[in-house]
Amino acid sequence: MSSLYRLHCIDGSTEFLKESEFSMHPLMMGSLSWVEYQQRLQEDHVIVLLPCGALEQHGPHLPLGTDALLSTAIAQDVAEQINGIVAPTVSYGYKSQPKSGGGQHFPGTTSLDGSSLIQIVRDIIRELARQGANQLVVLNGHYENQWFLTEGIELAVRDMGRDNPLRVMRVEYWDFLTEEILTSVFPDGFPGFALEHAAVMETSLMAHYHPKLVKLDRIPDVPPVNFPAYDVFPLRPEWVPASGVLSSAKAATPEKGALMANHLTKTIAAAVQQEFQSSTAISSPNGQTAIPEVVH
Ligand code: ZN
Ligand code: MN
Repeated sequence: MSSLYRLHCIDGSTEFLKESEFSMHPLMMGSLSWVEYQQRLQEDHVIVLLPCGALEQHGPHLPLGTDALLSTAIAQDVAEQINGIVAPTVSYGYKSQPKSGGGQHFPGTTSLDGSSLIQIVRDIIRELARQGANQLVVLNGHYENQWFLTEGIELAVRDMGRDNPLRVMRVEYWDFLTEEILTSVFPDGFPGFALEHAAVMETSLMAHYHPKLVKLDRIPDVPPVNFPAYDVFPLRPEWVPASGVLSSAKAATPEKGALMANHLTKTIAAAVQQEFQSSTAISSPNGQTAIPEVVH
């Protein structure tokens, strides 16, 4: 587990803070000097992960930074497995939509225009690539970010030109949850990832990664919201439950969080290694070492 440097998260919590280890963790870009970072870039096939989240209401029981905290924690766990580097998190995201994040009318939901998010992601990727980090993973933790991250990546790849070795993976971590995992986390039926806002998946993952930031006694027990099949603008706050929760998180447990976190870390790390050359090879079940496929 990566608890020693989880202090990089945006919540400001110092529960895991160990100053001596924090000062120079080889996996966290923001804690390296330029000399140390340059050395890591010179390693073979280094992979840089960019977690992306949001500052958004997550019901009365989870912190505003949930999407950024989860994408950061998962990126850190993945980086440990592939000897990657985690760049500082993009902690603001695209506007919360009523049907997936409750909407913009909640205090604390503080969002970027799509064009701003596109430019931020484009600039970061182009800067990382300019210095020689050319295997990047954009790890998204906020549903509404998806197409703006895609556009930022597209434009950065175009900026760098066709002959540049830059390759970018975009990962929505929840897409790695299999049918089997979803069945054990949601024995009564899975409501879908949009309605999963501040519900069982995010609450369980937070209970695993950041137990002190989860207020289990404040979880509202609400039926899944039934939204119309269209959107209206300006949004209708009355479509959204006052709690901001779109389906109940009552069934959340730290054990379900651990189950999902372990699965996500393992499968995302394997996908990254399969897609990119990596300095640590994947171990195959028979104990031999599989060489990840080269992608050019
Ligand atoms: Zn969320
Ligand atoms: Mn979100």
